[in-house]
Amino acid sequence: MTEETIVAIATPPGRGGIGVVRLSGDYATEIAHALIRLPNNPIKTQHATRGEFVDPASGKILDEVVVTCFRKPRSYTGEDVVEISCHGSPVILQYLVKCCLDRGARAAEPGEFTMRAFLNGRIDLAQAEAIRDLIDSRTLFQAQVAAQQMEGSVSTRLKPHKETLLNLIARLEAGIDFAEDDVSIAGWEEILSGLDQIQAGLGRLVESYSFGRIVREGLSLAIIGRPNVGKSSLFNRLLNEERAIVTEIPGTTRDLVTETANLDGIPLRLVDTAGIRDTVDPVERLGVERSHQALVDSDLRLLVIDASQGWNEDDRNLLEKIRPLGPALIACNKCDLLPSDDRDKTAALESQGVVAEEEKVWISALTGEGLPQLRKKILLIAAPARNLRPEGEFITNLRHRQALKEALGSLAKAREAAVHRMPHEMLLLDLYEVLHSLDTITGATTTDDVLGVIFSTFCVGK
Ligand code: GDP
Repeated sequence: MTEETIVAIATPPGRGGIGVVRLSGDYATEIAHALIRLPNNPIKTQHATRGEFVDPASGKILDEVVVTCFRKPRSYTGEDVVEISCHGSPVILQYLVKCCLDRGARAAEPGEFTMRAFLNGRIDLAQAEAIRDLIDSRTLFQAQVAAQQMEGSVSTRLKPHKETLLNLIARLEAGIDFAEDDVSIAGWEEILSGLDQIQAGLGRLVESYSFGRIVREGLSLAIIGRPNVGKSSLFNRLLNEERAIVTEIPGTTRDLVTETANLDGIPLRLVDTAGIRDTVDPVERLGVERSHQALVDSDLRLLVIDASQGWNEDDRNLLEKIRPLGPALIACNKCDLLPSDDRDKTAALESQGVVAEEEKVWISALTGEGLPQLRKKILLIAAPARNLRPEGEFITNLRHRQALKEALGSLAKAREAAVHRMPHEMLLLDLYEVLHSLDTITGATTTDDVLGVIFSTFCVGK
């Protein structure tokens, strides 16, 4: 039985210059020919051909279009693919999709084009996920990282570890299968050192996720401080210096002002927690609770103080509040109002042991002084000892991390078996588990329900 031919609008919802309807499957060209008047039949592949979308109901021309046809297997999905570029009118696009459905196509599920690319062996699962990440990227750096993964950097990274593993498995299998023959059986030392090598490599990758997560998901920074210390000014300054290319859809956290800045390629979600103060008003309390939650949830907290007024009791209370929650920075704002030698006097802060030097940064939200240092400190706290190169050795995907952790779990069992000189058969069971976990990353052994979950996070038409 042939696969169903699927159809979807591949461009985002809304009006635009161009809107694309994409078809994939055995009947893609047939359906396109039925609806689009084209100068040649069969349509030339890998070429853009001008045509007319003729309304099947009236026989009248509805739009002038450009049709691109890709024959299997040299297409995005590995099947016959036809892309019809219309003018970006939602009415036309939806009507064209309806006409395709009338001719036997089926509406594509979210991510189904990419899923077919995976199922047809065009890309592995990690590459499919990278396509989603590329589409979702908010900074150029994120896009560069996703592009590397789209090219296969995840499987390249796993490859040496997998090779060591397969090597070990092969040796052990040989030892069993040819037990009678004179095949060299891997000695225990050799097995253990192989296991350790794999463990170290996979361990490094798991560890790298703490940075990779930040690359993919960004950082959140809660800004806190007394009224009038300059929180909003700093918020706007951080935002305007380099706003993320695409800001997140606002309004998810009511009462809290949230925006995304771009911190050297890392999306930095800024949360202005203006509402933090004690109150008995029930409505206001709700806002206060939200602010508090934002403080708890943030990766980093930034306490803004007014350096021209010095450190006071309220500042200290706020600092005490945020200290237990995780990493914090103190921005001594309005430093433009202080002669620079005065800043030393505020060293009283440190002498009281309240604030360590590395936690503190002098800034002026007004003049922009100290902002580069602040950005640097934020990055340093959030992502220590990492250089921001897209080709860096790190994983960004939580699913990959989980698979790696599972692999490490089975590896530990294998090691235990080796230490206790268990029969090789036992050891092999664990090693196959390791292999299986690694294979789920690229999708060699992934169950259908997991695939469903992964591809459902795509949008329709991808
Ligand atoms: P918020 O209540 O903490 O959000 O404070 P605002 O951002 O609204 O700032 C309060 C006042 O301080 C405003 O008049 C700002 O113009 C001023 N201000 C903010 N940052 C600076 C700064 O770095 N230097 C100076 N001189 N004034 C500032």
